[in-house]
Amino acid sequence: MAADAPAKPFRVLPRVTAANQHFWRGGEQGFLRFLRCRACRTYVHPPAPVCPDCYGKDLAAEAVSGRATVLTFTLNHQPWVPAPDHPYAIAIVEIEEQRGLRLMTNLVGCPPQDVRVGMPVQVVFEQHEDVWIPLFTPRRG
Ligand SMILES: [Zn+2]
Repeated sequence: MAADAPAKPFRVLPRVTAANQHFWRGGEQGFLRFLRCRACRTYVHPPAPVCPDCYGKDLAAEAVSGRATVLTFTLNHQPWVPAPDHPYAIAIVEIEEQRGLRLMTNLVGCPPQDVRVGMPVQVVFEQHEDVWIPLFTPRRG
């Protein structure tokens, strides 16, 4: 790693497929994208071929605002992987557009001891190779 490169934590990268690339590569354009049912407008995540609400099969990727709320979190102190930033926050966030549309993620840009349930957050992306990992940071204003 070059001396001036920003330190990125170790990540086990997902296997990107035709079915999930809208999600893992949306960050290239700055968008958090989920499949959405064209019939009943339900966002479907993780990606599935059929809408769990209406069983419709016409699903297409659509961007959301990237705004979310922290539902729950834990602080990881155990150095499972080599990383300089312990402890760090592992959170489940709920996406603003739909109740129940949730992601497990890391919170960044915030001291771990300041993380709170109900905290408004905004997506940011951390690029590793051809994957843009969606992380969340406190939303201001
Ligand atoms: Zn549907």
